[in-house]
Amino acid sequence: MRITVLGCGATYGVPIAGGVWGRCDPSNPKNERMRPSVLVFEDQRSLMIDIGPDFRRQTTKAKIVPDAIVITHGHWDHIAGIGELPYYMEMALRRNLDIYADDATMKCVVGMFPYLFAHEVVATDTRTISFGDDDEYRIIWHRIRAGEAFEANGFHVLPFSQHHGGSDSLGLRIRNFVYSPDVKSFPTESLPLLSNIETWMLDCDYWEPSSSHGDPRTVVELVDRFAPKRVFLTHMDEKMDYATLQSWFEDRGYGQVAPAFDGMEISIPETTEVAGMSALQSVRTDVGRL
Ligand SMILES: [Zn+2]
Ligand SMILES: [Zn+2]
Repeated sequence: MRITVLGCGATYGVPIAGGVWGRCDPSNPKNERMRPSVLVFEDQRSLMIDIGPDFRRQTTKAKIVPDAIVITHGHWDHIAGIGELPYYMEMALRRNLDIYADDATMKCVVGMFPYLFAHEVVATDTRTISFGDDDEYRIIWHRIRAGEAFEANGFHVLPFSQHHGGSDSLGLRIRNFVYSPDVKSFPTESLPLLSNIETWMLDCDYWEPSSSHGDPRTVVELVDRFAPKRVFLTHMDEKMDYATLQSWFEDRGYGQVAPAFDGMEISIPETTEVAGMSALQSVRTDVGRL
């Protein structure tokens, strides 16, 4: 399994609109960050996580046509690329598109794009959505819930709740890979899912603690508590300079933590994937009891 980092910037990207680099060194290409999204890839199958306002540029740059999309929550930087879908489906994908999200996220999407979703067909636990009467391809909207595993394009995904300020987001566990953007803290029921992590992509938006996002000290606390093998930081704003951040963790003895960068390729080792499967089985049992 391979992860491609399509974007690891915060809500407004780096540089911010208008060319503001903040404390990030513009001469380091690793500081140029699009909005947060990753592509999970295995055996010619792909699953994109989140579809922000940089969807067009991200897919063009990485030369990818994602097969399916799962969305972590309904904030603008994670859903704005939905506006690109009519032409994407008609001219690039050329078939129906499966999107996995919870009810709260779907409400945000429909609220943001009412003109796109005027023609909706509701069917059991999925909703089939067309952009217009004569559209050939449709969105198949799969309703997901925290704590309930689902399969998306051959990937077994376990979504779990994350506290994200005034609302919750979904963290996603795919075998031993965990994706945790937009998280301040984890509710008790999500804690069993944070053990036996090979690679954890974790929110580190700001230097200082905030009400809705992660920061370096919180990352250190999580690493001490859950001992993931590797951590790559994501959702970093314009004050989070790549080299400064990397040194901050190295200086404190946390060499297993590093900032991600756009275009980064992360290989999840096959041997630990197998171990991760059994870990995930026991986690599923735990979740079932909650
Ligand atoms: Zn965000
Ligand atoms: Zn958010």
